[in-house]
Amino acid sequence: MNNLEQTLSIIKPDAVERNLQEEIINEFKKNGFLIIKQKKIHVSKIEAEQFYKVHQTKPFYNDLCTYLSSGPIVVMILEKENAVLDNRNLMGATNPSEAKEGTLRKKYGISIDKNSVHGSDSVENAKIEIDFFFKD
Ligand code: UDP
Ligand code: MG
Repeated sequence: MNNLEQTLSIIKPDAVERNLQEEIINEFKKNGFLIIKQKKIHVSKIEAEQFYKVHQTKPFYNDLCTYLSSGPIVVMILEKENAVLDNRNLMGATNPSEAKEGTLRKKYGISIDKNSVHGSDSVENAKIEIDFFFKD
């Protein structure tokens, strides 16, 4: 139990819309993640812009924020040893067409924008993202 971590996971609108949340949550459990907190929410465009602020200079920023706010999402705190990296590996590459066999984005992703899941990319960002959704 050396390196117990928490990370933030989001099941994005394309996956919730296709009713994949149970299946994806089972994948997390099967891979040793504990679901510490979970809620289904629908964020506003402004909240999506705050969440993805790190990408504000990118050409895809506006579409990304429109998309994240386009329908319900499921946000979760996942916990296990090395949760941040293990979740990134379970998710697979950002572009589902480049994601390895067996990864969530390979299995469920539709396109680079509709790639079904988000996961924090560092322990530091995981803390910020967990606070963003679960402050109280
Ligand atoms: N994204 C996109 N077009 C791009 C790159 C990224 O629509 O060319 C979206 C994609 O949904 C991705 C999100 O922006 O998940 C955040 O990008 P990032 O590079 O942080 O990828 P991730 O950490 O999600 O793998
Ligand atoms: Mg990222």
